[in-house]
Amino acid sequence: MSRVYNFSAGPAALPETVLRECAAEMLDYRGTGMSVMEMSHRSAPFKKIIDDTEATLRRLMGIPDNYRVLFFMGGATLQFAAIPLNLMRNGRAGYVVSGNWSQKAQREAKKYGDAVVIASSEDTSFDRVPTFPASVDQDLDYVYVCQNETVFGNMMREFPQTGGVPLVADVSSCFLSAPLDVSRFGLVYAGVQKNAGPAGLTIVIVRDDLIADGPAHADICPTYLDYRVEADKGSMLNTPNCWAIYVCGKVFHWIEDTGGLQAMEERNRAKVRPLYDYLDGSSLFHGTVVPADRSIANVTFRTPSPELDAEFVEGAAERGIVNVKGHRLVGGMRASCYNAVPPEAVDALLSYMADFEASHP
Ligand code: PMP
Repeated sequence: MSRVYNFSAGPAALPETVLRECAAEMLDYRGTGMSVMEMSHRSAPFKKIIDDTEATLRRLMGIPDNYRVLFFMGGATLQFAAIPLNLMRNGRAGYVVSGNWSQKAQREAKKYGDAVVIASSEDTSFDRVPTFPASVDQDLDYVYVCQNETVFGNMMREFPQTGGVPLVADVSSCFLSAPLDVSRFGLVYAGVQKNAGPAGLTIVIVRDDLIADGPAHADICPTYLDYRVEADKGSMLNTPNCWAIYVCGKVFHWIEDTGGLQAMEERNRAKVRPLYDYLDGSSLFHGTVVPADRSIANVTFRTPSPELDAEFVEGAAERGIVNVKGHRLVGGMRASCYNAVPPEAVDALLSYMADFEASHP
């Protein structure tokens, strides 16, 4: 067996120990005589799995008791609609557009009301987090941000001051890569397929009072996307993604057992620092994001030409370094260094970059 150095932006590398545990439990999950994929979602063993997954996440993130944890399918993309459907009560929300994903969310929200762009860095090709307005209109239903822009590689260290307006954050590509003060937000959500598990599960963490009255657009909100219904049903309105919930539970335990989110952040920072240092000193490669806003997850860079970029990506694969091609929107390269990507993978990438640069003076 040989495993590659996998820098995929998602679905992405999972901890090897978790994969091994899943393999060991595949044919007979703890004496049930079946795998988790074959089990009723209403059975006692699965109830234990989903309860433990939620409890572990609550401990890890320190989620306050007045927040509900919901498990959805449909990817982070379905939440682009679910958020305005549930929360846009007065018909107007503010969007900070820092890249591809917040732009998509804003465009989707426009179907349900006035999705106002209150800050954008599009004019500099999303090479940074936009400057937030000093204050926001207190009549807005919420202010929306994407903490880590997976395609362009920028990341927010701070969030807008929104006064009494709830802050909503897409944290898909930095989920559990560092501590996050959930109480600062009305809603936080993440597709899990980068840092936490396999594709097909999105976790929504939402403050009780925002969902107590049911969805803002109750007339058209699909029952499945009604946050209050899902909260009341324990994410079991219909069949959930049992397998993904099970794997996420294991990943949450792995994070806890390896020191929690503070330790994870330190490891992630230590992992990407040499990459950014190399890019700053290189005369062939350059980073695409201003230093203050560089992501700790998605390191985006390029050479002076698309042809050379392609040559780099091809040569990488020959060394077992895969998925370093940039997103199709922007080209160049992207090394996604999520939690489960080991430092050895970054060492291998750095040594290849140095060889490549030496052979392309
Ligand atoms: N938000 C962010 C920040 C993402 O990186 C992605 C996917 N790469 C999405 C949303 C969309 O996620 P999904 O494919 O799960 O719909």
